[in-house]
Amino acid sequence: MAKKEFQAESKRLLEMMINSIYSQKEVFLRELISNASDAIDKIYYKTLTDDSLTFDRENYYIRLEADKDNRTLKVMDTGIGMTKEDLEKNLGTIAKSGSHAFKKANEIDDEHDIIGQFGVGFYAAFMVSDVVTVISRALGSDEAYKWESAGADGYTIEPCEKADVGTEIILKLKENEDEEDYDQFLEEYRLKEIVKKYSDFIRYPIKMDVTKSKPKDDDSEEYVDYTEEETINSMVPIWRKNPNELTDEDYENFYQEKRYGFDKPLKHVHIKADGTIRYDAILYIPETTPFDYYTAEYEKGLELYANSVLIMEKNGDLLPDYFSFVKGMVDSKDLSLNISREMLQHDRQLKLIEKNIARRIKRELLKMLRNDRENYEKFYDAFGRQLKYGVYSDFGANKETLQDLLLFYSSTEKKLVSLEEYVERMPEDQKYIFYATGESNDRIEKLPQTELVADKGYEILYFTDEVDEFAIKMLMQYKEKEFRSVSSGDLGIDMEEEDKKAKEEADANKDLFAEMKKLLDGKVKDVRVSKRLKSHPVCLAADGDISLEMEKVLNAMPN
Ligand code: ADP
Ligand code: MG
Repeated sequence: MAKKEFQAESKRLLEMMINSIYSQKEVFLRELISNASDAIDKIYYKTLTDDSLTFDRENYYIRLEADKDNRTLKVMDTGIGMTKEDLEKNLGTIAKSGSHAFKKANEIDDEHDIIGQFGVGFYAAFMVSDVVTVISRALGSDEAYKWESAGADGYTIEPCEKADVGTEIILKLKENEDEEDYDQFLEEYRLKEIVKKYSDFIRYPIKMDVTKSKPKDDDSEEYVDYTEEETINSMVPIWRKNPNELTDEDYENFYQEKRYGFDKPLKHVHIKADGTIRYDAILYIPETTPFDYYTAEYEKGLELYANSVLIMEKNGDLLPDYFSFVKGMVDSKDLSLNISREMLQHDRQLKLIEKNIARRIKRELLKMLRNDRENYEKFYDAFGRQLKYGVYSDFGANKETLQDLLLFYSSTEKKLVSLEEYVERMPEDQKYIFYATGESNDRIEKLPQTELVADKGYEILYFTDEVDEFAIKMLMQYKEKEFRSVSSGDLGIDMEEEDKKAKEEADANKDLFAEMKKLLDGKVKDVRVSKRLKSHPVCLAADGDISLEMEKVLNAMPN
């Protein structure tokens, strides 16, 4: 039997493919399973239009068989199969996607679930195998064919026997090398792990014999091993389900299963978007701050699926930095992937999804703030600082999004309040939103500078985080009310009386103040009569718009 050569370009492409497209060898299994699933989908589509065919769900499945003695791994399916011509065309020509052609020919629109499109996935099998054998019998044919290839050299096709319609792909695994362990792909736990990771939501059962043990007989202490066929994928992705079919517990289980965090999520959001870009997403707001959250090591991102197949474990483009605490996943049919499925060709679609997600998360947080204050404060305690960084960064570009989510401790309410609540409470004659900065609420409470404002009965927000004042400078105002530090020169408070008294005192004690200034020379700029102090004898005041606290931070910064 003559060996057919791959076309010249194909040869080079194949070598390139095998060695460089995928960063992880384990994805070969994802590619073969995706093909098997496509093959079953194709039968399913046929039955929709052909009355002589029925689709009996239990007859359609994928099966993995590992044979340690022969070092082979078999991936078989009961899908549509391939004719001799199909084998030649689809497996003999690289970048020839029978699945893509099938979609076109059958006018299957974007609602399709068929995964294949580039015609290269199959060759991933050569990353782990010396020889790949494909035995296939096509739907409606009595003949079966065997395609075999040892890589870039070429392939053979010959007739063979196969009882049922479908395909078997048999991989003769490579021998272990120093760096590479191919034996792992024969291990039950490893195969399960890979299926769980990439193909858990393939819609047909992926079956495998798994080893179990049971007591030898009824009242025996001795255990014996036996094997039993099991379906190792969960099949229906939870995100495809309708949210009202799911309980809080389902979402919590998914969070744990996926190891998004070790805590219990504070809130979950299930999005089923059907607009310009269609996607499903399950997002979580964690309850506790990850230990590395406020360090450079922390990596934001969501899992990204295309058609229920995992293509990226952490995609950072799906989340704005200010919501970097969000965990979860996105699945879309509308993504244009490149051939390795590892990178996306365009980020336009991701941008759209990101914007969408940001809007939803904001809405959920606002809802929580209004209806579930206790949980919101837990959230704010864990991630509030990130929101303030968000206001401050990007030159305040996100302030509109974030300002309503901020909370600060209030002098009058003795608890955290939002800016909206503050402004609603403002008396008619109060011009500004007042704040005071300090190390802690206790310390601020004792600041002499707060006296005048507090005495007027005005509420003061306490800024104890270094980023607070920077964030507020970026906001400048909220609902047309400007922010003012209690130590600022202009508090917008009617001071006629105080002014008069201060002037009288200053005039009367001119010499005393001049003497004090001389004594403190170089330490202070001026010594003045205070118009604000009520019970404190003296206080330090800053000139201009920067508070003493902010001056401290600025001075501490490296030049
Ligand atoms: P893609 O899946 O992107 O089309 P692949 O290289 O993975 O590319 O597969 C090439 C083609 O080979 C598929 O489009 C399909 O026509 C055919 N094929 C591969 N595996 C199977 C299978 N298990 N059953 C039927 N056809 C298959
Ligand atoms: Mg494929």
